[in-house]
Amino acid sequence: MIPTNGLIDFHCHLDLYPDHAAAVREADAAGVFTLAVTTTPKAWARNYELTRDTRHVRAALGLHPQLVSSRADEITLWETLLPQSRYVGEVGLDAGPRFYKSLDQQKDVFARVLRACSRTGGKIITVHSVRATKAVLDHIEEHLSHRTNRVVLHWFTGSRSDAARAIDMGCYFSINGTMLNSEKAAALVRSLPVDRMFTETDGPFTEVDGRLSKPIDVARTLHTLAKLLDLAPTSLANAMRDNLRQVLQDTELR
Ligand code: MN
Repeated sequence: MIPTNGLIDFHCHLDLYPDHAAAVREADAAGVFTLAVTTTPKAWARNYELTRDTRHVRAALGLHPQLVSSRADEITLWETLLPQSRYVGEVGLDAGPRFYKSLDQQKDVFARVLRACSRTGGKIITVHSVRATKAVLDHIEEHLSHRTNRVVLHWFTGSRSDAARAIDMGCYFSINGTMLNSEKAAALVRSLPVDRMFTETDGPFTEVDGRLSKPIDVARTLHTLAKLLDLAPTSLANAMRDNLRQVLQDTELR
């Protein structure tokens, strides 16, 4: 078995597993630093309650772009809750065929999210960008101004030039095992700087061996990624912990 202590799952929906509390306990016991993202601000209170006393799990305040068509009005609640959370997500844009209709509405909501983060500062923001990489980067450029905010692009599927632009803008990337199964995505991942990388599962939306993946599965992703980058898994794990320390330091409000 691959040790999991000190590994990072920077994007996982723990509240979408059959037993939310058990999913939190398991990630914490395994020592995996897990960012528990949410899809609606109505889920914040319960996620916060279950994670506040853990050592390794933190909750993020989200409003998922795929839910904006039915829940756009929840942005008001989201804004009210923002001072309670250092972590933001899942937020962003989805221009895939099922969600394209609500794209204008999504853009309004995402702009409000970024402007609210600009006012407060000190946020770590995990961002969805399916078929909308350029629009997401445009939004970040236009609406996110505070220098103590940091963006992590989750499950990035943009082009090389989008990636170069995101790197110039200071963005990080969280990488899951499913991305590494695609040769094209893996080639792009190989071109990313190690000092901007995290692992993620996006569980339960990914699978490992025919079951839902969970935070401990980042161990396998870390090994696959290390091989791809020609690094020792322990050095890559150390590099990611350094990245986490850096992001926490850069978002500290003094
Ligand atoms: Mn997600």
